[in-house]
Amino acid sequence: MVQLFDGVDTYTVILFITLAVMITLLVFSMIPRRTGQQGKPSIKTLIKCVDGHEVEREFSRGDYVGKKVKCPQCGKEAVVMAIYIKRDQQPGKP
Ligand SMILES: [Zn+2]
Repeated sequence: MVQLFDGVDTYTVILFITLAVMITLLVFSMIPRRTGQQGKPSIKTLIKCVDGHEVEREFSRGDYVGKKVKCPQCGKEAVVMAIYIKRDQQPGKP
């Protein structure tokens, strides 16, 4: 064993270096990756009408699941089926 520092053996030094590398990797892995931005998330409202049209539109204040609305396509009675967050760009589903 080569003594790198006085009173500190190589094993301890290697241990500390390994620990430091692991902590660095851990910190970097926790930083959210900004590469390949997925676009702004937007809230969408899914509407389904009595004729079976499924229309997705921007969420507007007051929307809730089960709310009775008019179908944007045919104007007939429709209901809010779902409200969800969607990103503009979808990187392809697995
Ligand atoms: Zn319709």
